[in-house]
Amino acid sequence: MQEIILEVKRLKKYFDMGKGEILQAVNDVSFSIHKGETFGLVGESGCGKSTIGRTIMGLYNKTDGQILFHGKDVHSLNEKEKLQFYRSMQMIFQDPYASLNPRSTVKEVISEPMQVHKLYHSKKQQRDHVYQLLEEVGLNRDHANRYPHEFSGGQRQRIGIARALALEPEFIIADEPISALDVSVQAQVVNLLKKLQIEKELTFLFIAHDLSMVKHISDRIGVMYLGNLVELTASEALYDNPLHPYTKALLSAIPIPDPDIEEKRERIILEGELPSPINPPSGCVFRTRCPMAMEICAKKKPVWQEAEKNHYVACHLYNEKNAGKSGKKRAKGPVVRIH
Ligand code: SF4
Repeated sequence: MQEIILEVKRLKKYFDMGKGEILQAVNDVSFSIHKGETFGLVGESGCGKSTIGRTIMGLYNKTDGQILFHGKDVHSLNEKEKLQFYRSMQMIFQDPYASLNPRSTVKEVISEPMQVHKLYHSKKQQRDHVYQLLEEVGLNRDHANRYPHEFSGGQRQRIGIARALALEPEFIIADEPISALDVSVQAQVVNLLKKLQIEKELTFLFIAHDLSMVKHISDRIGVMYLGNLVELTASEALYDNPLHPYTKALLSAIPIPDPDIEEKRERIILEGELPSPINPPSGCVFRTRCPMAMEICAKKKPVWQEAEKNHYVACHLYNEKNAGKSGKKRAKGPVVRIH
């Protein structure tokens, strides 16, 4: 059994919006990540996935629950433990341009964390490490004295990756690292992350809204909707046999490169807007858009259960007593056309 490196236990993150309004960004979410794996977290924008990443990093305080890194609660670390934690865990951000200081050279950007953590005593050691990182991410030492605006989006993300690697972390949270990039560049960055993962034995939490790219990099995937985790399983199982109606809708939106298959394919188009996390629907939060919704869905929140081996879902269709009459069969059947 692989070592668990990160455990998120019943995490809640609420934001007080004033006037008595509470935004439930993350609601009772649990998952764990094994050493060396890539765990993909997907869902529409506003579903809470980035909030989870930021709460793990300590950029937000949690409202409730626990985040354990190597068994230690990351929100209760002493100063010395915090320093070690921030060396071990780093983040790659969505917008490579906004996350790089435009007035710093690439060398300064990458070496800043080394200085903060007093990694090297000599400037030469530090400079050599910057050169080495640039080469590892597919750039070269001639780029070290240039400024971020002189680079393309893909190159800037490579600089962001080099900076995240500067402290030789073991865990990286990649928060939508490719969504601001051209499609042609996205695959290059994903391939780079995969290569670095093998070379440096990294563990990734890969946050994205696009399921198609997540498949290529993730070992397991968690699907989020309106602050809730609704399905979690191995990447292959999620694509071959999605259980939750929301996952099915997300998958049906991915274009298939073969025009014949694409033409015949049924597509689920979700009706309605994403409800507000300030006032989420009762029972199952997906019920206002779910084509399979039943009476019980408005009354009772579905429990998180292992519907198949290592395949978890929160949906009443997989409760024993509902399975026969309303849906287990339908839920596993061919994709239905809603329009
Ligand atoms: Fe749809 Fe009900 Fe399942 Fe929610 S619990 S996804 S509303 S069938």
